[in-house]
Formats: sequence, C-alpha cells, structure tokens
Amino acid sequence: MTDRPRIAVIGSGIGGLTLAAALSASGTRCAVFEQAGSLTETGAGVQLAPNAARPLGRLGLQPVLRERGVAVEEIRVYGWTGEMITGTTHGAACEKLYGAPYYAMHRADLQGALLRLVGPGPLRLGHRLKAVSRDGDEVTLAFENGATHRADLVVGADGIHSVVRETLVRDAPVFSGLGVFRGLVPVDRLPSAAREPLIRLWLGPRRHFVCYPVSGGRLMSFAAIAPLAHAGAESWSAAGDPAELVAAFEGWRGLVSDITRAVDGVRRWALYDRPELRTWFSDRLTVLGDAAHPMLPFMAQGANQAVEDAVELAALLAGARRDDIPGLLARYEEARAPRTAAVQKGSRGHTEAMHLPDGPRQRERDHAMSRAAGLTGLRERAWLYGHEAGATAPR
Ligand SMILES: Cc1cc2nc3c(=O)[nH]c(=O)nc-3n(C[C@H](O)[C@H](O)[C@H](O)COP(=O)(O)OP(=O)(O)OC[C@H]3O[C@@H](n4cnc5c(N)ncnc54)[C@H](O)[C@@H]3O)c2cc1C
Repeated sequence: MTDRPRIAVIGSGIGGLTLAAALSASGTRCAVFEQAGSLTETGAGVQLAPNAARPLGRLGLQPVLRERGVAVEEIRVYGWTGEMITGTTHGAACEKLYGAPYYAMHRADLQGALLRLVGPGPLRLGHRLKAVSRDGDEVTLAFENGATHRADLVVGADGIHSVVRETLVRDAPVFSGLGVFRGLVPVDRLPSAAREPLIRLWLGPRRHFVCYPVSGGRLMSFAAIAPLAHAGAESWSAAGDPAELVAAFEGWRGLVSDITRAVDGVRRWALYDRPELRTWFSDRLTVLGDAAHPMLPFMAQGANQAVEDAVELAALLAGARRDDIPGLLARYEEARAPRTAAVQKGSRGHTEAMHLPDGPRQRERDHAMSRAAGLTGLRERAWLYGHEAGATAPR
C-alpha cells in the first residue's frame, strides 16, 4: 500500500474537472464520480475572468479559450430604456493588467475541453452519490447504482444540491424571489451589432438582462433575471416558456427586444442563495465550487471561484501523503473561505442596486457607475481578477 492518498472527486462539472486536470498536472491521481450517464452539451454561457482564465491557460486550455471563447472588449451597461450608463474597458488592457483576457464561453465548450484534458481514465459515469460514511481513516462512498468506493479524501464538487455538503452542514437554501431565463440564439438572427465582442447588461426595475456572444461568436448567450412568484426547481435544465420571457421584458429597448423575440427555447429556474459555509472540511472530506459556496450570479464568478478552489486544492495536495490530509484541508479552508465569502456577499449585495426602480436612487447609481467608466472600472477589479489561486501553497 502506497503512502499517497486515494482521492475521490464527486461531480465532473467545471470545478471537479479542473481539480482532476490540476491534480494530474502535478502527478496526483484521482477518481471522478459523475451522476450523469453521459456528458451532453448542457448550459449556455459562462464568463471566465482572468482569475480563472490564467490558471486554465496554464493547464493547457489556452488554445481552446482563444478559439472557442470570445475575448471581451468591453462590459457595457445600459438602462432599460436603452441609454448607455457606462462601459468598462477590457480587451488588451485586461490582458496587460491581469495576464489574460476576459472570456465569454459556452459552458459545454469549457467542460468538453476539460474532459479532453483529463481523459477518460479517472471518470466513472453513471455514479450518483447517495451516502458518505466514515470508517476509521477512510471514507466509504455508496452510489445509487449499488457500487461502493473507499477513499482517503473525498472532494464534493457536486454542485448546488451537494450530497457531500450535507455531511458538513444542514442549511436550507433561501429563495431569492428571482428566477432566471437562460438560452442561446444564433447571432445571424440578430442585428449585426450582436457580433461585437461585448458583454451587455441592461438594468431596470426589479429585473436585468445580460447577453454576450459565445462559441467563437456564432451564438448569443443571454440570462434574463426577473421576479418569480413561486420558488420552483433549482435546476439548470428546467424548461421555460419563451412567451413569458417576452412578457417579462416587454418595452425594453435594443438587443433585449431582438433577442427575446428570436428565442426558440429557453431554460428557467429559481435563484436560491445560501449562507456562507462556516466549516469547509472534516478531516477526510471537503467541498469546492457551488457545493461550497453557491452564489447568486450577479458578479458572474460562480465558475471562476470553482476554478480557483480547484487550483488551490490541487496545489496543496501535490506530493501529499495520507497523514497530511487533515492539515492541508485546514489550509485550503483558510485560503478559500474568506475570498469566496466576499464574492458571495458581493453577489448578494448587487441584487438591490441592479434592480432599483426609476428615480433618484437609480440616477445616483448610474452616476456612480459612469464615474468608473473606461480603465477605472478595470483597475478597480484588481482584487478579483488579480488573485493568484494556489500561489501560497507548496509547489
Ligand atoms: C447542467 C448544467 C448547466 C449549467 N449551465 C450554466 C450556464 O449556462 N451558465 C452558468 O453561468 N452556469 C451554468 N452552470 C453552473 C456552473 O457550471 C457552476 O455554477 C459553476 O461552474 C461551478 O461549478 P461546479 O463544478 O461547482 O458545479 P457544476 O458545474 O454544477 O457541476 C456539478 C457536477 O456534479 C454532478 N453531481 C451533482 N450531484 C451529484 C451526485 N450526487 N453524485 C455524482 N455527481 C453529482 C452534476 O451532474 C454536475 O456534473 C451549469 C451547471 C450544470 C450542472
């Protein structure tokens, strides 16, 4: 029996696959258990800021990011009636300041590239985790297909409904009162301005709308946030009604109206928030990504924080022995908990400001945003984009 820990990762989403790729890059093996029987093209767009694009590039994803991602030139904010409030320069300045562009990507492109990097070896598809039990220094995993597996370390990268998280805390998700419509539209169904490499955001009373091109610019991804009367399924694959999307954004100007009317199919789900996790680990088990810190999507950092977690944890685990695990998990929590809590709080805090009714407070907000136009806003993001995950871990 070797002294190296047997590592089991639950979930082959963005966080779980990044962890598997980063572990493999440092010569550490793991097994990845995924509930889905096959990994199909799911999701719409994700935004990859430099804090995630840099480490993903180092892992070997640079060519895919350049080919399938869209390097964003500017993040533009408009009022719902169409007037521009502000624009934050990204483009070459972002690369110069933070070492990588800000990419807009189809989630399936990113997941596919990570899968190729990891290879089929570590993947165990069709394994839905049901229960976790401690047995001395080992953890036993029981899956719904009847299989069991023993590990020295279990990492829950099992997303918003994490089974692994439940072994650490019993907390209930809090319905935000909001729902999100999400989907993709071919850009050739939209006015030519849709092809520009921009993230566009429209703010209005109790709702907002975001869109950006993905898949090398062929598709426009959108997310439309609006009040939702009843808490429904918190599922990325729940179907929505395009007519409800049109009705929710009736009267909104410009591309919002073009996109909502060009949509064939849309997903819709309720947005939930959760309190910050106080304890990230027990001595043989931890969590990362949405399992650790599900967040409202208003800073577009969900996937980015999952990548940071994975890179940090992999750096700590490089060359680790079984007995090192509890101490390393404490260091992982120390490195990640304060940062992800700040991003979770920031995302929550943005909700009210983004959805103000027309009036004096909205005009004050717009004025403040306009003062951070151009490079000022980009420089203000140094705490977010400049963070180097794994930098303090032993290499
Ligand atoms: C199908 C899908 C579509 C998405 N679409 C978008 C999108 O369009 N835009 C966006 O910004 N974000 C999207 N997200 C969320 C986004 O990917 C995550 O918020 C972010 O990347 C954090 O990643 P994660 O690895 O923590 O979780 P996820 O990427 O959610 O991955 C979790 C993985 O764990 C697996 N899993 C869950 N429970 C179990 C279990 N009990 N046993 C085994 N495996 C399990 C899931 O099947 C999934 O593959 C989507 C997530 C999913 C799962």
